[in-house]
Amino acid sequence: MSAAEEGGADWIHVDVMDGQFVPNLTFGADVIRAVRRVTALPIDAHLMVVRPEQYFDEYVEAGATGITIHVEAAPHLHRQIQRLGELGVVPGVAVNPGTPLAALDAIWEVAGLVLVMSVNPGWAGQAFLPASLERLRTARARIEGLPAGSSRPWLQVDGGITAGNAAAAVRAGADVLVSGSGVYGGDPGSRIEAIRAAAEQPGPSGT
Ligand code: ZN
Repeated sequence: MSAAEEGGADWIHVDVMDGQFVPNLTFGADVIRAVRRVTALPIDAHLMVVRPEQYFDEYVEAGATGITIHVEAAPHLHRQIQRLGELGVVPGVAVNPGTPLAALDAIWEVAGLVLVMSVNPGWAGQAFLPASLERLRTARARIEGLPAGSSRPWLQVDGGITAGNAAAAVRAGADVLVSGSGVYGGDPGSRIEAIRAAAEQPGPSGT
């Protein structure tokens, strides 16, 4: 964790999996608490869990600064986004690769972050799904089309991000890149530097 911070990460993204919404299990506010102890960076908790609302209070108390829930796991999505806002954290909504972006229609103006999953969540080390770029472009267009004066959510992409595809993701409209295996598969500092350098390259026009 401190290797990521020293390596220049801006946020720490923590994946929380309950063994139900996704098969893996990495769970508990203790994980957030442990991260909070070793970094002052924003902690972005990505809840890949069913009934995420039952954990909001403990994750906020543990030190999360943003909480992202899955549209597929949140029948009362709008209400839960409001609740996260009331708790003072950045309210995020994640969408799986197989879910139409139309599922987000009601929340573009109230979410603080929209997370386009670029792999199917639950297994580390998957390759970036190329169709995610078009989904990012669509999401970016929705955000830019919001009425003047409305707040605009961050557009985050999570899954298979490496120095090789970071520039394409940024050109497609992402402004927050999540990398797990892409950072921890080697020296975090040099991996982050490589992803950041790639992301900051000016892209060819029209892409
Ligand atoms: Zn994640």
